[in-house]
Parts: sequence; structure tokens; C-alpha cells
Amino acid sequence: MIGGGLAGLSTGVALAEAGWRVRLFEQRPFLGGRATSYVLPDGEHVDNCQHVTLGCCTNLEDFYRRIGSAGKIKFFDRLLFQDPQGRTGEMQAGMLPAPFHMTGSFAGFAPLTLADKRSIAMAMLDILRGKGHTADLDEPGGISMLEWLKRRKQTPGAIERFWRVVLVSALDEELDRTDARFGVDVFWKGFLSNRTGYRMGVPSVPLAELYDGCKTEIEKRGGEVNLRMPVRAIHVENGAVAAVEFDGGRRESADAYVFALPHPAMAELANEEMKRLEPRLGELDKIGVAPITGVHFWFDREVMKEPFVTLLETTTQWIFNKSALYGTRNGAGKEKGQYLQLVISASYDLLQKPRQEIIDLCLKEVQQALPAAKNAKLLKATVIKEAAATFSPQPGVDRWRPTQETRIRGMFLAGDWTATGWPATMEGAVRSGYLAAEAVLRSVGTPRKFLQADLPADGFVAWFC
Ligand SMILES: Cc1cc2nc3c(=O)[nH]c(=O)nc-3n(C[C@H](O)[C@H](O)[C@H](O)COP(=O)(O)OP(=O)(O)OC[C@H]3O[C@@H](n4cnc5c(N)ncnc54)[C@H](O)[C@@H]3O)c2cc1C
Repeated sequence: MIGGGLAGLSTGVALAEAGWRVRLFEQRPFLGGRATSYVLPDGEHVDNCQHVTLGCCTNLEDFYRRIGSAGKIKFFDRLLFQDPQGRTGEMQAGMLPAPFHMTGSFAGFAPLTLADKRSIAMAMLDILRGKGHTADLDEPGGISMLEWLKRRKQTPGAIERFWRVVLVSALDEELDRTDARFGVDVFWKGFLSNRTGYRMGVPSVPLAELYDGCKTEIEKRGGEVNLRMPVRAIHVENGAVAAVEFDGGRRESADAYVFALPHPAMAELANEEMKRLEPRLGELDKIGVAPITGVHFWFDREVMKEPFVTLLETTTQWIFNKSALYGTRNGAGKEKGQYLQLVISASYDLLQKPRQEIIDLCLKEVQQALPAAKNAKLLKATVIKEAAATFSPQPGVDRWRPTQETRIRGMFLAGDWTATGWPATMEGAVRSGYLAAEAVLRSVGTPRKFLQADLPADGFVAWFC
């Protein structure tokens, strides 16, 4: 296994369970890849960025269960939204069966007008009629989500205060650069086909702590986890991987090699011979990347009661109350303080902005959204910009995403960017890992299934699906 992110870890754990001796090599000093946490020089534990999961992420849930971390994810049934005028709305399943379970909270969603709601309801009906798939999603090259919405005559308010809010956070890309297939899928799997797909899971520990069980799972079956071990080259002979090379020219060989790297890193490692044998490795540069910015605020007092809130029409998209989520009043060891983490997906506009400008902008928005913050003292702040946070789910991107099996013998790929049908998410990464493990086992004639089924449709939706 090369790469200790969720894709590499899930492949490793699955193969170890199948009886393989897994040797995992990760370049950094910790596991988790992009979904990890680390300690700042002042001793503060911070997530690379807040990560959330949804009820419909069945493979991630299965993976957390296998490694003993399922209990470290808190699930919430109520999602709260707030606009700059202070109007709030929520999404919470009521008594009705799917697909009507959100009707009550949708009807009372104050930031949307009646016309906005009517247009949204019509689009949802279209998704339902197509059982999660509308005919125009199959147009060659794909269509953008914005185009899909325009074809369904969505009001500007519906686009700005509903579709954009949910989808930019879920898919890390602007609507005009997102393949509508991913957008429609979010609503079908998360909000329409069943009552629980939308429930939001938030870790109650720093992200790196979720992966303690992976090392144990791999080691108890004779494997090993090696940190600070970047692979520098891949050697291919007679159409098969012969070895991987580390610093100092050290080489290691194996029966099967799973490369679970981000796609830009994989593109760099792929040499001309590899691209000749497996042309898809030469096309990885066609997959773009999209940024996410995380802003961390430590206040001297409590400024927020809710565990999280989504802001509408501001640069800041989400505020997470890390103190509450970690189950401490602070998070920084200060008696009455509070630690908040803000998330801005598709944060192209912030990439060039200086750190202090981002802090000032976000602080103003936090003070507007949470009046108690106006009287609080900001003790410290950190900005973490991830320019290549995810692959960009641009229209037609799936044609560039390679399968986990390759034409080079012994070489398998994993990573959220490989062909999983899912966007760049932790769920997508684990799906890729399970698919890679299945491909390895198939290649030696001992097939086994790891991939979990989607949540089944329930309520009225189950009748016609
Ligand atoms: C800021 C941010 C916020 C996000 N928020 C969410 C969210 O809320 N929900 C969600 O589901 N997803 C979210 N994501 C996406 C999610 O983190 C990723 O989709 C997922 O973690 C990708 O896992 P991976 O294993 O495919 O890749 P990575 O996590 O990138 O793992 C690849 C690993 O390979 C290692 N590596 C690279 N080169 C080498 C080498 N040469 N040798 C050895 N090792 C190497 C890297 O160090 C890394 O550990 C977010 C991502 C970011 C960056």
C-alpha cells in the first residue's frame, strides 16, 4: 500500500482481513491524508479541515465500524441554516415517510420565498420521477448543475439560497463547474430516497484519532505501517510492477501494489513506460482540483450554542462549534473559551488573499451571525488553505477517472479520484479502497466482496423503486 489516506487505509484493512500481509508506506508522519489532524506549534490539535459524513455514506460507516471508530462519530438529525437578515431554516425529518419527510421543515424554511419553494419542489419531483436520474444527465460530456437548474426554471433565490448552499459544500465546486450527475445524486441519496441519508455525522475527536485502529488491524495480521516513507519511483519490467523505490535507492517488492495517492502525485510518479502500458495514467492531468479554506477561531468565551450552523449568502459557509463537538467547553484548555471552525468550499477567491484579510472578513460574518461574538475577544486565529482539497467534479470528469484495476500487472489504484461514481469525499475514498482490495483478490482468484450497498429506498419511494 502506498499512501495512508482513507483510500489506502481502507484497502489495507480489507486486505489484512482477507489474510494478506499488508505493508503500508506513507510519506507523512501521520495517517489520514487529507482527512487528518495535527498539532500546531503552540500545542493546539486542529483538523486539516472539519470533515463531515452523511447517513448515505455506507462504506465510510462500515470502515469506521471495522476499525472501531464508529462510536467517535456523532450523528445529528437537524441541520440549521441562517441568512444575513437573521432568518433561519432547518432540515429535519418529520413524521411523514420518504420522500415527504422533509416537507414540514421545507415549508417553514424562512430564507426561501413561496416561488423559490415551488420551483425547488418541481425539480425534486423530476429527480423522483427519474429515480435519481434525469435523461439530460446522459448528454455527451455531461451538463453542469447550473444548466440543469436553469432547464428546470429555478428562481435566483432557490439557486443561491438552496441549491448552491447544499451543493458547493457537498461537492466543493461552483454550480457551473459541477457535473449535474453528482448534484442530483446528493439530493436523491441524501434527501429523497430515504429518511436517514441526510443525517450529518461529525467526529467527536480530532480526525487523526479515528485511524488508531487501522494500524492495529494491519499489524495484528503480520503487516506493518511505515510513516515518513515517500515512494520516489516505480519500476516496471515486462509489463508488471517490479519494485517501488524509496529515498536512498532502497527498493521493496510485493505480490501486489496499491497506489492510493492523490491524482497529481500519481501523475508525477507515472513514467513513460507506465503511460504506454496504461494510457489512463497519461490523462490524469485532465482531472482538475478545487480548494477549501478552513478558518479556526478561539474566543475567550462562549459565543455559540448550536453544534453547527450553515450561513447563507456569506463567504463563510459553515460554522462548527468544535468545543461542543469535542464535548469540552473550550478545546484549547482555557476555562470559558470556545473554539469554532469555519469552512469555505470552492474558496477560489480566498486563495490569493492574505491570511489577516480572511480572518477579518470571517470574523465580521461570525459577529453578524452570532451576536455574542461581538463582545468576545478573539484570542487567536488560524487559516488553513488547501488549494487542491478535492478533485473538481467538472462535467464529464468521470471519463478521466481510471478503474482500480490497471493494465500493468500487479498495479492497482485507489483514491477518491478513481472510478467510484462518487465525488471527492471520504465515502468515495473508502469505496475506492474496497474496490481496490476486491480487484487485488480477484486477480489471484480469491474473490471477496467489501463494497457496501447504498441505503435502501424507504417509505413511498420503496414502492416505485
Ligand atoms: C479541506 C478539506 C475538507 C474536506 N471536507 C470533507 C468533508 O467534510 N467530507 C468528506 O467526505 N470529504 C471531505 N474532504 C475530502 C476528503 O478528505 C478526501 O476525499 C479523502 O480524504 C481522500 O482520501 P484519499 O485516501 O483518496 O487521498 P489522501 O487523503 O490525499 O491520501 C493520499 C495519501 O498519500 C500520501 N502520499 C502522497 N504521495 C506519496 C508518496 N510518494 N509516497 C507515499 N505516500 C504518499 C499522502 O501523504 C496521503 O496521506 C475534504 C478535503 C479537504 C482537503
